[in-house]
Amino acid sequence: MSERPDPPTTQAPPGAADLAARFEREFGRLPDGVWQAPGRVNLIGEHTDYNEGFVLPFAIDKTARVAVAVRQDSTVRLLSTYGDQGLVTADLAALAPGSAKGWTKYPLGVVWALQQRGIAVPGLDLLLDSDVPLGAGLSSSHAIECAVITALNELSGAGLGPEDMVLATQRAENDFVGAPTGIMDQSASLRGSKGHAVFLDCRDQSVQLVPFDAESAGLVMLVIDTKVSHSHADGGYASRRASCERGAEALGVKALRDVRSRDLPKASSLLDDVTYRRVRHVVTEDERVLQTVELLVSDGPGAIGALLDASHDSMRDDFEISCPELDLAVETARTSGAIGARMTGGGFGGAAIALTPVEAEARVRAAVERAFSEAGYTAPEIFTVTPAAGAKRIS
Ligand code: ADP
Ligand code: MG
Repeated sequence: MSERPDPPTTQAPPGAADLAARFEREFGRLPDGVWQAPGRVNLIGEHTDYNEGFVLPFAIDKTARVAVAVRQDSTVRLLSTYGDQGLVTADLAALAPGSAKGWTKYPLGVVWALQQRGIAVPGLDLLLDSDVPLGAGLSSSHAIECAVITALNELSGAGLGPEDMVLATQRAENDFVGAPTGIMDQSASLRGSKGHAVFLDCRDQSVQLVPFDAESAGLVMLVIDTKVSHSHADGGYASRRASCERGAEALGVKALRDVRSRDLPKASSLLDDVTYRRVRHVVTEDERVLQTVELLVSDGPGAIGALLDASHDSMRDDFEISCPELDLAVETARTSGAIGARMTGGGFGGAAIALTPVEAEARVRAAVERAFSEAGYTAPEIFTVTPAAGAKRIS
């Protein structure tokens, strides 16, 4: 178990005008524009993406913002309001996987991925600011990439549609940054909409916006960042993926997306116990996503609590990717008033979400803080998120 560094900032983010002013101080001229892209929370659908199944993330009201100006040469100059890397300079002609360090991998990875598509990206000056907590499972890295690709799509005149921007940022993460991520995070960040969740079919990349207006239903979505990441997260992820592939092969399907819960009794006779439980998580989780979408449409956010709970239990018992801190956060949130709670993200640490009636928010926060203190755990960070707009130009 290790502790992550503090999030970039807990103060309110500066607006577009502040960022433009800062850009002018740093680079001696005004930016051509300011673009922003949100982080995301996955409402439900965990470890279903690489099984070609369903996920239901939403874009949140925490964003990365980039002020950008085009240059007349082939230089890219990058600066972030966070961290101590200072001004980083790169040459457009020399970008290749492994050529960038630290946070600049994300913007430069996007430039590189666009170049790989034959798009002529101009030289740039870029200033980044973000209030998406990093490493908390809210996808601060995709927020940066999506803000950058939205800016560059416009400034280069590439005119890519959202599907292609999703694939280009995936290429940046997979091949330039070296993180084996899917398409969920950038789909939420690029295609999200205020008051909605993004129902994404990971097989054909189709997206449907589903109303998810917690506020109007008298609910808040609490994020409980446990502040821990367990050292076996990478190995755990790889072994879960391998189990899923093994399961699909043994069951004779292209991906676990093609298995239904009515097929599970037969699967249990064909698979060893561990593989069977991994498969059962994915199959039931896909069905929970579909049920959540239906319930959100028919009855609203107040109806999905039991599905969130069942998702957590399945990850804890069948997929075995929870950890004591996440279980404590979820259990305490439930018993102190949340209508549903689950770990969110890849597992082995990170954050839990708790859908909570407004009037119970203070009680849930206090109960979780107390439970963590009594267990001797690092104090969690607890904050609310609301379903917000996807990436866009803000100035
Ligand atoms: P996650 O995407 O889940 O938050 P990652 O490890 O994928 O976690 O991405 C976190 C990385 O993104 C950080 O290590 C840092 O390089 C970069 N990052 C996030 N926010 C900022 C920021 N405001 N300024 C500079 N770099 C940032
Ligand atoms: Mg990331």
